[in-house]
Amino acid sequence: MSVPEPAGGEEKQAKEVEDAEKYSFMATVTKAPKKQIQFADDMQEFTKFPTKTGRRSLSRSISQSSTDSYSSAASYTDSSDDEVSPREKQQTNSKGSSNFCVKNIKQAEFGRREIEIAEQDMSALISLRKRAQGEKPLAGAKIVGCTHITAQTAVLIETLCALGAQCRWSACNIYSTQNEVAAALAEAGVAVFAWKGESEDDFWWCIDRCVNVDGWQANMILDDGGDLTHWVYKKYPSVFKKIRGIVEESVTGVHRLYQLSKAGKLCVPAMNVNDSVTKQKFDNLYCCRESILDGLKRTTDVMFGGKQVVVCGYGEVGKGCCAALKALGAIVYVTEIDPICALQACMDGFRVVKLSEVIRQVDVVITCTGNKNVVTREHLDRMKNSCIVCNMGHSNTEIDVTSLRMPELTWERVRSQVDHVIWPDGKRVVLLAEGRLLNLSCSTVPTFVLSITATTQALALIELYNAPEGRYKQDVYLLPKKMDEYVASLHLPSFDAHLTELTDDQAKYLGLNKNGPFKPNYYR
Ligand code: NAD
Repeated sequence: MSVPEPAGGEEKQAKEVEDAEKYSFMATVTKAPKKQIQFADDMQEFTKFPTKTGRRSLSRSISQSSTDSYSSAASYTDSSDDEVSPREKQQTNSKGSSNFCVKNIKQAEFGRREIEIAEQDMSALISLRKRAQGEKPLAGAKIVGCTHITAQTAVLIETLCALGAQCRWSACNIYSTQNEVAAALAEAGVAVFAWKGESEDDFWWCIDRCVNVDGWQANMILDDGGDLTHWVYKKYPSVFKKIRGIVEESVTGVHRLYQLSKAGKLCVPAMNVNDSVTKQKFDNLYCCRESILDGLKRTTDVMFGGKQVVVCGYGEVGKGCCAALKALGAIVYVTEIDPICALQACMDGFRVVKLSEVIRQVDVVITCTGNKNVVTREHLDRMKNSCIVCNMGHSNTEIDVTSLRMPELTWERVRSQVDHVIWPDGKRVVLLAEGRLLNLSCSTVPTFVLSITATTQALALIELYNAPEGRYKQDVYLLPKKMDEYVASLHLPSFDAHLTELTDDQAKYLGLNKNGPFKPNYYR
């Protein structure tokens, strides 16, 4: 959504955790004190788990049938509902609570099935719940969250609740909420304020309803994009007196935290989940590699073979998009500002160009920079007829959509999330999701990848919440490498993957602890 803008080229100064053992969560890995989740065995035993490949394929097939019947896709959830704004409706769940605002509480049963399907591919979170075994590492935590509200985040939210937290939740994107999932959360007692197709005013209203509550004050923030954090800073700065920490997932939100930190205005510790290896490598790269095609196909039925596509930004998201498009036979160009990423694109076989050099000839333009005004009105004016324009970055700032809302241009809504913008000479540009994040607005995201991010978020919250005073200062921190390795290890049983163990001799030779961390913090 809007302000404040992330600064370009900002120096990241996250505090890396050098000595994992001294942090409370990591202590549980090795020492397993009483009031913590028992992680000790997991580090040793994840290689011994029985194969779950059968279960994995089962979840895929159920997922498919679910999509056929009443959808696991955010884009299919709203069509049959009436047009009354959820803010105008009086709704209660079966326990008589009206502490939520969703599109239609009656969809809860459908949503529950979606959540159960997601759980099958999110075994790491489920095992966190099991391993807590009555211990509640988040007992007393009051988490206010602002993320995409999908079946997968519902599994995260319910895991946090199972670990002892109370949660109030809003959506970080006005299009990505799965209404039936929000209903299921509300039915389960989570104070959720979100529906698909919120107005901008609704968006901030929902955030406000999560923060501004009589008799309830958040002590943890889980944010995706920084809007919630920004709102608390702007409207309720005193809330920060009780906040123990912020966990932030997105590039954009992390930029905002670094800005605050640089300006000396960050008044609580923050965990930068976005830059943890598991998030970067899996959520951004592998997730986008799969979902870019899904989003484009569902909205436009485009065939990629031989099409000319330009991808702006060759970071993790851009790399994923380019790999998928190349595999389908598209001719892919890349734009970059960073010579290292540009060189990587060259090595991977892509032509690195300026957008203006190819804008007349390309069939598809995809932005994934996290930046603003990457595609300007001038570029849009020069595009050829039927060029598809979409954004995979977090905010809707990458394509200058505002410049298209001019009297000389006609907008025609041709499908949900698909607009034709028509120039006076009849040229049409196909704009997807009004420049908002394509895959979360128009397709689903692989559950397994989201499981990795969600597990990282849960562990970051546990760490910040349980850390003794003084361990974390008012700064932005990265998760320790060992915790990243732990998140990965929790997911290996799904593939029946068997890790090789270092011998004592090898460990000595490499100067490593046999249980990790296996790489330095800076390793990517
Ligand atoms: P990244 O920092 O790894 O990559 C962004 C790249 O864009 C960088 O290499 C940067 O040099 C380049 N860039 C910046 N300005 C540019 C410009 N004007 N022209 C060309 N290149 C430019 O970040 P990332 O992890 O790839 O994430 C990119 C965006 O995607 C972020 O907004 C992030 O929040 C979002 N994201 C989306 C999804 C999704 O599911 N769609 C998943 C993760 C992240």
